[in-house]
Amino acid sequence: MKKRGIGRLHSPGLLRRFLERLRGREQTLVRGPREWPLLLLSYPPKGRAVAAEIGDAWLHTLPALRSAVAVSYREMLRGLPPMVVVILRDRNVCSCLGHHHPSGTESRLTRRLAADSGGTVGEIDLAWEAIRQWQPNPLSALAAAVAEPSFNRLQFRTAMLTVLLHELEHLAHPDHREAAVRGTSDGFYREVLNELLGEEGASARYGMQPAPSLP
Ligand SMILES: [Zn+2]
Ligand SMILES: [Zn+2]
Repeated sequence: MKKRGIGRLHSPGLLRRFLERLRGREQTLVRGPREWPLLLLSYPPKGRAVAAEIGDAWLHTLPALRSAVAVSYREMLRGLPPMVVVILRDRNVCSCLGHHHPSGTESRLTRRLAADSGGTVGEIDLAWEAIRQWQPNPLSALAAAVAEPSFNRLQFRTAMLTVLLHELEHLAHPDHREAAVRGTSDGFYREVLNELLGEEGASARYGMQPAPSLP
């Protein structure tokens, strides 16, 4: 699907003016494959490492994944607005891992970006500490064979992508029911964690510690 209205956002002066208004938070623009939305990550300074992790996962892990559910998510991304703002916090007061913000409930940042670009800008939020502690499935035998630091990093990257894609599916398809969206994202978590732990996940582990060889 053709992206609309994003051209003016390429003006660095325009974007800089927005960003200077947001005191106390930092912004990073992540530009993946052309057909995917640009992600504008907005985070407090302590979230810098998490933002870098999401950028790496979006640019290097998601495009390289082979599992069928990752392929269908990549198709879904083509149906999103040309830009999605991702608001990062360590935790949400409601303890959710993340939310999508339906049209009309976005932050001032997102509404201004949409008004000034003349296009649609989506918005979601993610709570990175809640996501780090989230363990939706019992560990597989494969996971048990991998050293803990590597495993924790792979699991965090997988969980972060899972929640990000879950919320993006809600934005792309407001008519999809929660049970179906959740079923897809649970499947993604399970399949992708196993893929990243195994030999076939080598190219998707870009920038990460090498996983120890498996028996
Ligand atoms: Zn909530
Ligand atoms: Zn949901």
